[in-house]
Amino acid sequence: MLTIKKLTIPGYEQVIEGVDPARKLHCFIAIHNTVLGPALGGTRIYPYGKPEEALHDVLRLSRGMTYKSAIAEDGLGGGKSVIIADSHTQKTPELLHAFAEVLDSLKGQYIAAEDVGSTLADMALIRQKTPYVASLPGDRSSGDPSRFTAWGIFRGIQAVSKKLWHTKSLRGRSVAIQGLGSVGAKLAILLFWEGARLIVTDLDQRVTHSFAHDYSAEVVGTDEIFSVPCDIFAPCALGAIVNSDTVKSLKCAAIAGSANNQLDTDETGWKLMEKGILYAPDYIINSGGIINAAAEFEPGGYNPSVARDKTNHIYDHLMKIFHRAEAEKKPTNEVANALAEYHIAHKIGKRKIPIQFS
Ligand code: NAD
Repeated sequence: MLTIKKLTIPGYEQVIEGVDPARKLHCFIAIHNTVLGPALGGTRIYPYGKPEEALHDVLRLSRGMTYKSAIAEDGLGGGKSVIIADSHTQKTPELLHAFAEVLDSLKGQYIAAEDVGSTLADMALIRQKTPYVASLPGDRSSGDPSRFTAWGIFRGIQAVSKKLWHTKSLRGRSVAIQGLGSVGAKLAILLFWEGARLIVTDLDQRVTHSFAHDYSAEVVGTDEIFSVPCDIFAPCALGAIVNSDTVKSLKCAAIAGSANNQLDTDETGWKLMEKGILYAPDYIINSGGIINAAAEFEPGGYNPSVARDKTNHIYDHLMKIFHRAEAEKKPTNEVANALAEYHIAHKIGKRKIPIQFS
């Protein structure tokens, strides 16, 4: 039997826990803030060791989504969901249907989407039980977000280059990419054609080998990526990789990648500033995917050209943050948070036309 429990978490509008032992579901959905629109965020399927870890993750990720959408001005709020399961061995249609019932109970205040461990096909299964799903396969869908995320990271790297080297051109710049998955691989290819020199790492050596062969990438070990001298470090795998340990080793001029929650704590932003490393705040530079997903809810329907043009603004958002951070002598992550909070307080980018779910 499915049970849905409401948890009271200060600072969050709604957090629920769904448990259904028969269908092997244990999930959390967190709605952080819906001032600017219904909350949209991915459904992460991951074998968390303890439920507390899953709860911790959903809380920090949903807050990040609020800030991401606030700056992207996409008329959405912040939410996220996590399912405690191994996406390779424990993901079943029954489990996804049980999750869909938990999702449905929120009546569209939270919209689920693809994330780590979940696929477009999973979203289609969830859609069989509830309409509150984005990134579905099919003609009206915004499809795979990673192509927009990768393009947004590329635009962000151009902004970094403009700020540090006064040119958008990346010709001859070395970019060290951690993770050649959906986003990292696409980013690497965009950078290659732009003339950048690639340094890459991934757990999967077949992938790194093919990038070495196809794009002259230098392959380094998964630990070595933190200390390899490079112009830009692009984390595209895991969160919290910029921490008190790794910050000492970094030999880059900037950090600009897709991973969510790259800094272990906000204080790490100060350490980066002291080291003279320019940090492109993660939730701004990686907002291409959410911008694309939000485009599904445009009154005229999904149009990838509209999503592309909005994703291009990541360059402008970052330039604004970089200049402000310099003027205020503050880390870029703090300046970004202040800007997002300003948008929420002043309802900048609030959704005007409600989303019609069918
Ligand atoms: P993915 O799962 O497709 O790719 C991750 C890659 O990182 C895999 O190839 C994996 O082998 C590699 N990896 C894992 N651990 C590693 C390690 N310790 N060292 C080196 N490589 C390692 O994920 P993705 O969709 O490409 O997303 C990458 C990151 O960007 C994630 O943190 C995700 O949350 C974030 N992000 C993705 C999107 C999107 O549109 N997909 C949007 C916003 C943020």
